[in-house]
Amino acid sequence: MNNEYLLKHLRNVPDFPIPGIQFKDVSTLYKHPKCLRIMVNELYELYKDKGITKVVGIESRGFVVGAALAYKLGAGFVMARKPGKLPAETRKESYMKEYGKDTIEIHTDAITEKDVVLLHDDLLATGGSMLAAYNLVNQFNPKQTFINFIIELTIEGLHGRAVFPEDAEITTLIKI
Ligand code: AMP
Repeated sequence: MNNEYLLKHLRNVPDFPIPGIQFKDVSTLYKHPKCLRIMVNELYELYKDKGITKVVGIESRGFVVGAALAYKLGAGFVMARKPGKLPAETRKESYMKEYGKDTIEIHTDAITEKDVVLLHDDLLATGGSMLAAYNLVNQFNPKQTFINFIIELTIEGLHGRAVFPEDAEITTLIKI
């Protein structure tokens, strides 16, 4: 199965960036030609009939497959970035992290009410950062918003899906 193949090539780095965290290092999937192709192709199959016009990638690991998928879907690609990185006018959304507050930004002219948006990131843990991105995208009143992650962590009591509204359409390729 493709997803078992992806899982087999995903590197786990214990105690990174701090003791106790099992870091899922998606760079081992990005560098592997077949894994990269599987991820983009599987996502294409999931979203090809949804009328997606913009893929929004979350900085920075969401940029890699997000941009490749946008190309394949014939959609545009939008960067959701950390504060102060985008040069033109932005909309912002702040959210609480374990230690303090963080903010995510998108250019004001990046999304319109005519867009159907797919939000993409590498990994769902608590869901906090994607929920902020979801709320930020919805400030633009797009026609519809979808959410995707490559990996969904459900170990160690994590249930990131639960932070999203019940009608949010979320897909993930690998559950751990
Ligand atoms: P969260 O907002 O808690 O869902 O965290 C998701 C973001 O943090 C993603 O952009 C991931 O890249 C990163 N992240 C959180 N936990 C991990 C982990 N165990 N392994 C790899 N990346 C992680």
